[in-house]
Amino acid sequence: MAVLAGCKAGEDKAASAVPQTYKAPDIRERLAKFAPTEIAADEALLAPEDRPVLNAFIEAARLIDTIFWKQAYPPGLAMKKELELSPLPADKDYLRFLEINFGPFDRQDGNMPFIGTARKPAGAGFYPADLTKVEFEDYVAAHPDEREALENPFTMVKREGGRLVAIPYSEAYKDELLPIAERLRAAAALTANPSLKKYLERRASDLLTNDYYESDCLWIDLKDNRPEIIIGPYEVYEDSLFGIKASFESFVYVNDFEAMAKLRGYLDRLEAMQRNLPVEPKYKTAQVKGLDSPLNVVHEVFTAGDTKAGVQTSAFVLPNDEKVREKKGTKKVFLKNMMEAKFGKSLIPISQRVLVPADAAKVTFDAYFTEVLLHEISHVLGVNYVVLPDGTKTTVNKALKDLNAAIEEGKADIVGMANVPLLIESGLIPQASEENLYASYLAGMFRSMRFGATEAHGLGVLIQFNYMREKGAFVLDAGSGRFKVDYGKIRGAVRDLAAEFLIVEGDGDYAKAQGFVDKYRTMDAGTKAMIETLKDIPVDIYPVYRMKY
Ligand code: ZN
Repeated sequence: MAVLAGCKAGEDKAASAVPQTYKAPDIRERLAKFAPTEIAADEALLAPEDRPVLNAFIEAARLIDTIFWKQAYPPGLAMKKELELSPLPADKDYLRFLEINFGPFDRQDGNMPFIGTARKPAGAGFYPADLTKVEFEDYVAAHPDEREALENPFTMVKREGGRLVAIPYSEAYKDELLPIAERLRAAAALTANPSLKKYLERRASDLLTNDYYESDCLWIDLKDNRPEIIIGPYEVYEDSLFGIKASFESFVYVNDFEAMAKLRGYLDRLEAMQRNLPVEPKYKTAQVKGLDSPLNVVHEVFTAGDTKAGVQTSAFVLPNDEKVREKKGTKKVFLKNMMEAKFGKSLIPISQRVLVPADAAKVTFDAYFTEVLLHEISHVLGVNYVVLPDGTKTTVNKALKDLNAAIEEGKADIVGMANVPLLIESGLIPQASEENLYASYLAGMFRSMRFGATEAHGLGVLIQFNYMREKGAFVLDAGSGRFKVDYGKIRGAVRDLAAEFLIVEGDGDYAKAQGFVDKYRTMDAGTKAMIETLKDIPVDIYPVYRMKY
């Protein structure tokens, strides 16, 4: 498909500068949402023997991009090539944005086209572009013996005459998968770590046999490596037709054992954190269940494919295969340097605009990262189940229904904050950083509210923000028009609000929960206006990776 005018020799210059296709005129504003940022491994985490392994990982992972271009929108690759060859300076911007989105559709704008007028097929590149839901469903109903192959997450669907046929990924993307497998084997030969060697060899063969089960299990078992890689088809979001086809992606990362040791310090105190909660025993079950997935802290070195499209991932939980989850569980992985990059490019500028200078100066990445970890582990605190007035047991989720997500997210935030004084006493958090935690807590709220106060996280945050203002812990400074923390009041307000959330969950009384949410869910006009002024601050980063170590 010819999308963009090339510039042939001898052609009339004015004519060639006229775009042949619609191109969104506001491309610079769209690009400005993504601040290009260098992402690299922390040299201090690397031993000399890790470097060749990392380089082999990067070489394998970068080939994943080509597969994902094909999966997202097959004509995208040709458009990319044309833009690369275009002499028009503005086309550099279109090229960059095409690369961010893996195609001509703006992922931040409901996949509306920013080049051309064609709409993205709901089934992306996984199915024939003209295939409808009804046609597919009728076809598999009429051909029950073909259903399994056609609905397999690791096949793409093609038309062949009047038939629909399933092509295994291992065949459809053979040209890319063969060299990827080769590079994974090369990496296996380079590493001295037995668990990594085993995983890499198995993954290399699984990519070619289209069965990922064994190597997914081996990824969970990886032990004592610094550099690691996850590579293959995982998330199914790109398939908006049925949500069953998996997209290829890869994360190359280095384990941060020091950060994980610190985290273990928090986890060792889970029981103490539970006891410390400011509520009666019935609102905190005696036995703290463990976390659903072990937490890992890593530095991102390189990503490719699905995860690199649009907004960057701060953390992931993999694998997705239910069979693997049942047998081995999952791992949750925090990409610490990616979080730090986002923090620097968006949370710092936000805090400089919404906080008084003295508090803006207290917003630190360390404090922000501590809060993210405390949020994550605080999900398991409080009650495990609810006893209804008639004596029956149920889960908080079932009792609070549509309100559960916002309340549970808010609870995780505030319960994490309520345990800060305990962790200071235990020596895990330095006393000197207590104010940083409160200032970062306030600044982080503006980041969440900016993304919208209707979805669970945003609403959970808005409730906390309004409560803290009501109690005078957050104050709008009349002179500067900016917010500040009242450090004399915040500790008490945090404990009180933690109790409110824990009691709402523990009682499991929907009407009471509704009353609590309704009381604090309205954003005042001043805050709305303040959030409006943040529009020009990037919402995310665009990662620029180092290709060699
Ligand atoms: Zn959460």
